[in-house]
Amino acid sequence: MSRAELDEGRALPDPQDPGIDDLFGNRETAEAARFLLERRDNPPTMAEWLARSQQAFGKANVHSQRRLREVRSHFVVLSIRRTGDGEWVYQLLGWKKAAASGVKISPRLQAEVFSQKGRFCQMCGIGPDQARLQIDHIVPESWGGKTEFANLEPLCEEHNHGKQAFFASLDEVGPAIGRALARPNPWERIGELLIAFAEMGRPTPVELIELVAQDTHKGDPKKRLRELRFVLGWNITSHRKKTDGVTDVTYELLEAKPWPPEGAPTAVADYERDRKRRKASEGHDLS
Ligand SMILES: [Zn+2]
Repeated sequence: MSRAELDEGRALPDPQDPGIDDLFGNRETAEAARFLLERRDNPPTMAEWLARSQQAFGKANVHSQRRLREVRSHFVVLSIRRTGDGEWVYQLLGWKKAAASGVKISPRLQAEVFSQKGRFCQMCGIGPDQARLQIDHIVPESWGGKTEFANLEPLCEEHNHGKQAFFASLDEVGPAIGRALARPNPWERIGELLIAFAEMGRPTPVELIELVAQDTHKGDPKKRLRELRFVLGWNITSHRKKTDGVTDVTYELLEAKPWPPEGAPTAVADYERDRKRRKASEGHDLS
């Protein structure tokens, strides 16, 4: 979710406006929207929101992330870090633009994506004779992904929807992704993502590491992770968990190191060069 989705001209309702109930099919969501409207100038933390539901409904809201998603179908709500204590807070900025977000993908750009990336789903390889193919934003628009060739790929309808659902479930980590994507190279993008997740106290899903590693020439996320660990000295551990036959892979950051002043790409290139030189001279000693 970003400021770009904001409907700037539309005045916000009073928090007590009964029209808010009509926006949402659910009283708890309406209450959440009211709370965020009331607290626009002093955005609440998730803990404060839970305390409020406890007060209003006699129970803490167990679906707080879903409620947030529902509020976000009508309002732009940013998750931001509060200056001072660094707590995550939820700031309601205004109405969301009525038209679904996003720039239309021109027929010409669609044709270019299909002709150069292949007329098949990039996740399962299915072709147009077996499924409806759609053009997908690799980095979602709501996280700052652009409607341009490099950020578009064909997906089948099923994988496109699956991916959208996966990202919707990660709405609250949008700022972490944004922070990672702002970095100029895959090492720093992966590293910043790991740091942002560690700060939130949660493991980093491998899918997001693959997403931020995207880079035309240096996209191999596993290799980048190895270099973060063995060249740059980071302590990262991985976890595999199997649920319903699906293996979830996550990475956990145990210790980060400051970025080398010469930049991660140069540090890795220097290491590789030294390693080759060492290898060559060892070979020489043996002969
Ligand atoms: Zn597919």
